Formats: sequence, C-alpha cells, structure tokens
Amino acid sequence: MKRIVVTGGAGFIGSHLCERLVKEGNEVVCVDDFFTGDKKNIKKLLDYDNFELIRHDVTKELYIETDQIYNLACPASPPHYQYNPIKTAKTSVLGAMNMLGLAKRVHARILQASTSEVYGNPQIHPQPESYWGHVNPIGIRSCYDEGKRMAETLFFDYHRQHNLDIKVIRIFNTYGPNMNPDDGRVVSNFIVQALKGENLTVYGDGSQTRSFCFVDDLIEGMYRMVNSREGFTGPVNLGNPIEFTMVELANKVIELTGSKSEIIYKDLPSDDPTQRKPVIDLAKQELGWEPKVMLDEGFKRTLHYFEDVIMH
Ligand code: NAD
Ligand code: UDP
Repeated sequence: MKRIVVTGGAGFIGSHLCERLVKEGNEVVCVDDFFTGDKKNIKKLLDYDNFELIRHDVTKELYIETDQIYNLACPASPPHYQYNPIKTAKTSVLGAMNMLGLAKRVHARILQASTSEVYGNPQIHPQPESYWGHVNPIGIRSCYDEGKRMAETLFFDYHRQHNLDIKVIRIFNTYGPNMNPDDGRVVSNFIVQALKGENLTVYGDGSQTRSFCFVDDLIEGMYRMVNSREGFTGPVNLGNPIEFTMVELANKVIELTGSKSEIIYKDLPSDDPTQRKPVIDLAKQELGWEPKVMLDEGFKRTLHYFEDVIMH
C-alpha cells in the first residue's frame, strides 16, 4: 500500500478518487483549500484511519512524505475559474510548481489532471493528443486554458531536466455524483433546472458539442495511468467519445427526468468551444481503458444524487 497525496481531493473528481484509494487501503492525504470543494464530499472518509485531510492552498509550498501525487487542485467550472482568474492561473501554475518540487524532493510519481481545454476551440475534430490546440491567450477562459498548458509545460520540463516520473492526463467533460449543484457546468445546471421545474438554459443556439464521461470511468482511467508502465508520460486523453449538442443534451435531461421544463436560449459566453470529442486510441492501447458507462445509465445515477441534494 502506498502513501498518496490528492490535491483538490474534496472536489467532485477528487472525492471519488480519494474514496477508491482509501478503500484499497492506501494512506491518503487529501489537500484542499475548499474553494469549490465541499467537506460533505469526503465526510464518510473521515472515519477511516488511513485518510487525512489538510486545509492547504497549493499556491503555497507543501512539505510531506509521499509515494504518489495526484494533482487535481483547480476550479474546473467556467463561472468558478473566472471568478478570480488571477488566482486560477496561480493555482494552475504555482500549484504545479509546488507539487513538482515536492515530487522531486521525495521521488514521488506525479499525475497532472490536465484538460481538453488545452485544445481551446479546436480546428481539428476529434482531438488526438498530437494536436497542439487553438487557444486564445487573452480571453476569459485563458486563465484556465493557459494555466493548464503552462502546467503541462512544467511537468515535461521537470521530466526532461530532473527525470521526474510524470503522468499527464487530459480530461474531457466529466459528470456524476458529488458535482456541486451551483457549479454552473452544463450537466449540473440542466439536471437541477429540470428537477426544480425551471427552464433549461441553453447558451447560444445549442449546436456546440461536448462528449460526457461518467466519473467512475474517469477514475478507472486515472488510476490505470498512475500505475502504467515506467516511461509512459502521456499526455493521454481520457473521455467518452460519444458527442452531443447542448440542445440534444437538454432534451435528454427533459426526457430522463420527465420534467415539464422548456428550453430557453441565453447568450453564448465568449470563446466557448464549438466542438469537442476525444480520440482515445492511446488510452485504449497503453491503459486498456475505454468508458463503459453510457449516458443514460450515468445520468440516472447522477439524477439520484441531485434529487437527494435538492431534497435535503
Ligand atoms: P472541482 O472544482 O469540483 O474540484 C477542484 C478542487 O480543487 C476543489 O475541491 C477545490 O476546493 C480545490 N482547489 C481549488 N483551488 C485550490 C487551491 N489553490 N489549493 C487547494 N485546493 C484547491 O472540479 P473537478 O471537476 O473535480 O476537477 C478536478 C480537476 O480535474 C481540476 O484540475 C480540473 O481542471 C480537472 N478537469 C476536470 C474536468 C471535468 O469535467 N470535471 C475536465 C477537465 C479537467
Ligand atoms: N452551457 C449551456 N447551458 C448552461 C451551462 C453551459 O448551454 O447552463 C453550455 C456551455 O456554453 C458550453 C457547454 O454547455 O458550450 C459546456 O459547458 P460547461 O461549462 O459544462 O463546460 P466547458 O465549456 O468547460 O466544456
């Protein structure tokens, strides 16, 4: 069993990861400043002797002994990462530097939770890892996109300069239980709106596409990546290649909830990518990984979670 640090461990994805690692018997340290995370997500883990929670901001140095680091700390929803864009850039860049420095000191293997946002508004479709992206460096999404790109650069420079054992994954839109209902991302917005009988807010004409991965599938891919063969650094795309327009997604939510809600159209935020779909051949080949949970099944499980959250 290993000592494992998970930064951003109280967030949506991090909480699922902590649960898996704790239940396997590892010594897990969850590091989070609770900017978008929630203690509720990890409450049940506090009963385990092999789980520890530290309130800490990754833009500050962290001294701890560990075998592995999963670096997830960073707000992921556009309204949250745009709330304090300078802080978002610091979290991505300084957070990566601090965690890489820690990994170097204690010789730990380190995974970076990068994002499909490094491809920006892609001019190649679907997106393979070899695509360098099409990112606006000065727009409202840049704090996140460029922050994550710089973090990838730092990871690869630490690898080249210090032979650090790095793993980089590019996560495409992921959804599931433990999402914050006020998060502002499309899946949580649509489901909460449908359950409350409010209109579903489609931004723009709703023809933009995304590909949605259920969180259990993502966690399996992340885990396989950290435990993949030495020398395989990635970057590797992790996502579900089934692509939907936002109008199709809204209709799907209305159908699955049986809601009487209707669709209303709002302004499209600037730089909103028009399409996004991963090529996952590398993940299949190197990790033997592909998503297993189809959208209807994943949505049902997510719906149960939100019904519970809204009722309490
Ligand atoms: P989230 O907002 O639920 O979780 C992020 C966590 O990081 C929160 O617990 C938050 O409190 C914590 N955090 C933020 N700034 C911090 C700081 N300075 N110091 C310490 N902790 C800090 O988001 P998520 O969806 O769970 O995303 C987790 C990671 O995965 C992020 O790095 C995100 O960029 C990446 N990612 C997620 C998606 C997705 O669809 N969910 C897609 C691509 C990439
Ligand atoms: N979106 C929408 N209605 C909402 C929230 C988001 O139509 O209430 C759209 C948004 O404009 C984008 C897509 O859904 O095109 C995915 O948005 P999200 O914030 O979930 O993630 P990202 O844009 O980072 O992929």
